[in-house]
Amino acid sequence: MSNSYVLVINSGSSSLKFAIIDSVSGDAIVSGLGECFGLPEATISWKFNGEKTQEAIEAQGNHHQHAIKRLVTLIESLGFTNDIVAVGHRVVHGGEKFTSTVKIDNQVLTEIERLSDLAPLHNPAGAKGIEAAIEAFPNLPQFAVFDTAFHQTMPTKAFTAGIDKDLYTEYGIRRYGFHGTSHFYVSRQAAKILDIPVEKSGFITVHLGNGASVCAVQNGKSKDTSMGFTPLAGLMMGTRSGDIDPGILEFLMKKGWSQDQVFDMLNKKSGFLGVSHITSDARGILEAMEQGHEDAKLAFEVFTYRVAKYIASYLIPLTSLDAIVFTGGIGENSNIIREEILNNLSLLGFVVDSEGNDKARFGNEGIIARSELLGAVAMVVPTNEELVIARECVERL
Ligand code: ADP
Repeated sequence: MSNSYVLVINSGSSSLKFAIIDSVSGDAIVSGLGECFGLPEATISWKFNGEKTQEAIEAQGNHHQHAIKRLVTLIESLGFTNDIVAVGHRVVHGGEKFTSTVKIDNQVLTEIERLSDLAPLHNPAGAKGIEAAIEAFPNLPQFAVFDTAFHQTMPTKAFTAGIDKDLYTEYGIRRYGFHGTSHFYVSRQAAKILDIPVEKSGFITVHLGNGASVCAVQNGKSKDTSMGFTPLAGLMMGTRSGDIDPGILEFLMKKGWSQDQVFDMLNKKSGFLGVSHITSDARGILEAMEQGHEDAKLAFEVFTYRVAKYIASYLIPLTSLDAIVFTGGIGENSNIIREEILNNLSLLGFVVDSEGNDKARFGNEGIIARSELLGAVAMVVPTNEELVIARECVERL
């Protein structure tokens, strides 16, 4: 009997992450990355059986297409052709149209392209990956799994911006939220670990990676989340500012900054990088802080303070709280950052369990703090977005 593997594709503008996931065991059989697309040094690399291989991609033409064509021959050479049952694409923006995973046909693809208006950096790249994959794997069903879909359950009061309502009806300006697959997955896993039914659970899920967002998940449904119309809103991130006073934009433009300069600063030169002037990477911030770098310490403090403030305010959408759930590269690995966030929440009764916090790292889940006051815990749950995508596809075959 053949396996039930899904090829998961996450197509960015200059890169393409991929994985072959065993939808039953959850194992990643192969995982890889195409990068530097659009440049002569474009490469594709993958890991199989612990061994890493890297190759150059043909310099001319469409690198998304070249990379995906290479996947066809890679899958053949590994002998997995008959094991792959579907292709699952991570698509950033599903707007209000896509509230769950869909099987891709021409109409869906057109709609994803149409939504590029809302996600100009992401959806065109997603569409490129889908087109190349349909060409390369014409006989496999292909599915789109949207980052925004999980948040479509937010009530109107949570997604409405406090601006002229015509801007919503005319342009669709509202909170959409992102990282939905991760918030979905860790809320389900947390319920399993705590042995409570997800439909009677309350979580604040805290995804801290290069991008970062908080989500209030009541009874399995997203009730509010910190990213907004774009993934720039909410928490301070690696290079993104998160929330700032929009008056700053007007001020800078009056000082002669162009629109591109302002948004380049907010998206690429802010966050850990902007405050520390050293790095966008949390590990680098922690190392510099240890060596006494003051702006690295400031970046750490601004970040942890902002996360704690968001967590506290995300009690508002909930009717019960079982756990604060940390995930993402920082949330899964940095006991120091988690401890500082939880110390900022001491008024809510959270007391860190140092041993638990030390243990829950590098792929280990676990309870890291408890609040007698709220009858809740803080815990770590490693995320697995590829597995969600694989399972969503298989469920719809
Ligand atoms: P992305 O959002 O790009 O998927 P990740 O979820 O992989 O990113 O998170 C990347 C972040 O996780 C980086 O800031 C990195 O420094 C941080 N990180 C990874 N391991 C550790 C660690 N051991 N301690 C602190 N931060 C870590």
